[in-house]
Amino acid sequence: MAEQQSSSQGANYEGGLVKKPLIISENEGQENVAAAETGELRFDDQLQAADPVQRIKNGFKHFLTNKFNKYPDLFHELAQGQHPKFLVFACSDSRVSPSHILNFQPGEAFMVRNIANLVPVFDKLRYSGVGATIEYAIEELKVENILVIGHSRCGGITRLMSHPEDGSAPFDFIDNWVKIGLPAKVKVVAEHGNLPFEKQCDICAEEAVNLSLKNLHTYPYVQRALKDKKIALRGGYYDFVVGSFKLWEF
Ligand SMILES: [Zn+2]
Repeated sequence: MAEQQSSSQGANYEGGLVKKPLIISENEGQENVAAAETGELRFDDQLQAADPVQRIKNGFKHFLTNKFNKYPDLFHELAQGQHPKFLVFACSDSRVSPSHILNFQPGEAFMVRNIANLVPVFDKLRYSGVGATIEYAIEELKVENILVIGHSRCGGITRLMSHPEDGSAPFDFIDNWVKIGLPAKVKVVAEHGNLPFEKQCDICAEEAVNLSLKNLHTYPYVQRALKDKKIALRGGYYDFVVGSFKLWEF
């Protein structure tokens, strides 16, 4: 049984809160992986496992077969350290993973994902998770590119655009978070207030990317890297309705 197999194979994942960890190994459920190798596995077949544990197993086996065991030199190199060229901000939305839409491979992109892919203004007392990631990416990893990716039909942006003006906030965290994007909302309402609400939201998703790029300039690490011409900032917008990706320099 896979659960008894040793982790000495080096390609296992051990984790979880149970006392006896589940070990996902190479040899179990090879049928699906074999199908994937021959191209018979359709996209939705990978999601067919109703059991979430089985879904996780299938996913990791697919990764082992198609990535980890296929490129041993790469993963040996990555085990020694990471040298990503990109710091990427993307929304938490399940449809917009940069690893899928831009095919970023292990080791390529240091990543922050949050509601509406927002970068707050530099503030040592708030949003330290974002600040720590920016600081580490630039100061330690020396990333050369920062890419902020917005997307169509973003729930976070919709919440920002419909945020009640009276300040009432039924959510514990969401409203306070998306308020980071208020300057983008104000601009969109002033310039495009006559457009349908959904269209305003999509425009705001792009404006929020520009706002985040502007806010990045408030971080001293970004300022230094820009001054030394060691980093480039770009905005992106993924439209999953039509399947397009817009990229721009800030
Ligand atoms: Zn979103």
